[in-house]
Amino acid sequence: MKTIDKIYINGAFITPQGTDTFELISPTTNMVIGKVRLGNEEDTRNAIAAAKAALPAFSKTSKEERIQYLRQLQEAVAKKKEEMIKVMIAEYGGTLQFSRISIQFAIGNFSEAIKTLQDFEFERIVGSSKVRLEPVGVAGVITPWNANIGFITGKLATAIAAGVTTVIKPSEMSALQTQVLLEALHEAGLPAGVFNIVNGLGHVVGAELTRHPDIAKISFTGSTVTGKTIARGAVDTMKRVTLELGGKSPNILLDDADLTKAIPLAVAAAYTNSGQACIAATRLLVPEKLLNEVKTLVKTTVEQLKVGDPAQEDTVVGPMVSKKQWERVQSYIKLGLEEGAELLVGGVGQPAGLEAGNFVKPTVFVNVRNDMRIAREEIFGPVLSIISYKNEEEALQIANDTDYGLSGYVSSGSEERALKIAAQINAGRVMVNGFKHDPQAPFGGFKQSGIGREFGVYGLQTFLEPKTILL
Ligand code: NDP
Repeated sequence: MKTIDKIYINGAFITPQGTDTFELISPTTNMVIGKVRLGNEEDTRNAIAAAKAALPAFSKTSKEERIQYLRQLQEAVAKKKEEMIKVMIAEYGGTLQFSRISIQFAIGNFSEAIKTLQDFEFERIVGSSKVRLEPVGVAGVITPWNANIGFITGKLATAIAAGVTTVIKPSEMSALQTQVLLEALHEAGLPAGVFNIVNGLGHVVGAELTRHPDIAKISFTGSTVTGKTIARGAVDTMKRVTLELGGKSPNILLDDADLTKAIPLAVAAAYTNSGQACIAATRLLVPEKLLNEVKTLVKTTVEQLKVGDPAQEDTVVGPMVSKKQWERVQSYIKLGLEEGAELLVGGVGQPAGLEAGNFVKPTVFVNVRNDMRIAREEIFGPVLSIISYKNEEEALQIANDTDYGLSGYVSSGSEERALKIAAQINAGRVMVNGFKHDPQAPFGGFKQSGIGREFGVYGLQTFLEPKTILL
């Protein structure tokens, strides 16, 4: 049982003014494993003041100084790798397999920012003018619980590269993970106030960041509903916003795909991070003529997946982060049945022997229509909808008939054919024959999956304002 009773302002761990507390509950056992004291509006304003005071000097640092800071951060965070993996499993219920990859990416975010920075020109000639890309101001960073450490390091590394100071509000459900990371970030020895972290509730700390006039930009990852609230609130002070929101990503299986490879990949892409992933491929689009074959393969693949203790090496699907999230996923499984979809595998309730935690039976529905709510809404759990199509034209029409546009997937025996289809999917990232990641390429959504891009040059530019100087 651990108590987190400090927030981080101006380079120091301090006791918040806020006195409310929040219990941290293990998703695997539902036992209380910790408690966090929450910051309030005043704490948020203090953190903003510290970031504002640090901005003039930090915004003038050279590329070399920022690279040095990023190296220090990476070194300090890398030392805590094993501890971060352990706490991600204990507090969030991330599987060992996923937590290892996630923490590796989280550490890598600093070296990726260095790579981006090395070749980046902050001054360019455009037309006959000099264009300077200047730090945007103080940024508010708001992150969710499904990859807490990775989201924080990704946004922080980019802000540092841009010469921007930050106030970070993680999900309070991730307080133990934040604490381990924060101790490492503090060890890195950056100037006081460059980054500040306030644990607290979204409608308290997050809302204060959104409305405060000294915050110039919000970088947010989370649900589309909250993203819209932030965008509305941010407009009064004309904040820049980067919103990385939800998805309902299509995975188009073409009729020439090698099903023995494509089906395990499709299941893995749907159930990544136990289904609690914005990029999860939750709609599998299958040629009508292959439906029976696909059903057999999907069923056997899913039945072989290990669900259970996230700390076990071979566990593929762990518990949902909270009881609330478990109930939400259950309600969607019930809804699928009510809507008339055919249950291929899984269903309501907990898998046998796993009643203590927030475990869900990995579930697949077939004969799903794209107008059903299970095909339109983000479930954020291990629930896959299989939709059949007659021809490529119909596959694309179904794929793009969604409010979202974060990711898309195509499986085909022909790269040329896959690329043609990929070009027509309306999404920020399309993956061909696999579940892939490129930390330098832009990441973000079309339509209601968000605004703006993260990673690499595109991500860096969202923390900068172009200023044109006419000579
Ligand atoms: P939210 O979008 O509500 O939370 C994300 C972050 O925003 C949290 O830090 C949250 O704080 C904060 N927040 C909440 N309300 C406000 C506000 N008014 N102003 C500023 N910040 C705010 O996600 P949930 O955790 O509630 O998850 C709900 C659903 O969202 C999931 O079931 C899933 O569908 C989706 N989701 C999508 C994610 C993605 O990666 N795209 C990530 C997480 C969730 P607090 O925790 O205190 O509410």
